[in-house]
Amino acid sequence: MNNTPLLKIQNMSKHFELKSSFIDKHIFKKRNTVKAVSDISLSINNGETLGLIGESGCGKSTLGRAILRLYEPTHGKVFFDSEEITAMTPKQLKGIKRKMQIIFQDPYASLNPRKSIEEIIKLPLKIHESLSRKEMDKRVLDITERVGLKPQHLKRYPHQFSGGQRQRIGIARALILKPEFVVCDEPVSALDVSIQAQIIQLMAKLKEDFSLTILFISHDISVVAYLSDRIAVMYLGQLVEVADVKELLENPMHPYTKVLLDAIPQVEQIGVHKRVLLKGDIPSPLNPPAGCKLHTRCPRAMGKCSTEVPELKEYIPGHQVSCHLL
Ligand code: SF4
Repeated sequence: MNNTPLLKIQNMSKHFELKSSFIDKHIFKKRNTVKAVSDISLSINNGETLGLIGESGCGKSTLGRAILRLYEPTHGKVFFDSEEITAMTPKQLKGIKRKMQIIFQDPYASLNPRKSIEEIIKLPLKIHESLSRKEMDKRVLDITERVGLKPQHLKRYPHQFSGGQRQRIGIARALILKPEFVVCDEPVSALDVSIQAQIIQLMAKLKEDFSLTILFISHDISVVAYLSDRIAVMYLGQLVEVADVKELLENPMHPYTKVLLDAIPQVEQIGVHKRVLLKGDIPSPLNPPAGCKLHTRCPRAMGKCSTEVPELKEYIPGHQVSCHLL
């Protein structure tokens, strides 16, 4: 890993407009906006694994997809290797997408049930590279073995595999083009715990083999902590804390990060922070609170927390936090 950013996100927001709906002949439901991601700036260095954590629905997956332009960002810019992805035409984007891939949460839903595993893994090569049939077969066989599948699996179909094996197929499809950057979107959360450990170890090995830069999205901080160099914590579409893994586990500064760490007994023992309990449920992203978005639940909230958005500031070198109380 070096300190040169491979990926840079500047002030990215992604909003989804919900269409107005007709209720009866007099009433139309108002148009609503879901602010899934709000004004996020973040860099990922070459060879780094950045873990992105937060509760379900906090905007983690939306951010991952907007980086790859699977969703068009509403505001902001994304740079990959100093080139602005957000300004690219579809043709330019196709060229760069071979360097940027995604591994999805639900491997079964992302695999075409009518295609054999060989066809599924080979498809990106057919789209992006001009190789002879022999060269393609060699690449497919190589990646199949690297992800722990056997050559005889290639003639089978997705329904003939277990959840863990399907995720290996998803990983093979993402890595066949030898990308530089991979978004792993909750890749183990649909799997049994024992299988999760195998896939996480496989990801750690493949990261080294392919010199990958990874954005690893998960709601499980123990999974993220095992694989990542740094962790970014998200709450209701915003980043609240970013730090190196060790620093974040030993010295969490944002109340929300402390809550996430408290939920994991073995991680709790590392830190010496005072336990924090949040009030109530996570607010709807349709109507997020003003000021600090955590203020409706935070036991330490005071006056300006409900009116002023705290800036994400660096308090210790490499450790950024957004909280008025620091
Ligand atoms: Fe809590 Fe206020 Fe800090 Fe937000 S800014 S985390 S409400 S203390």
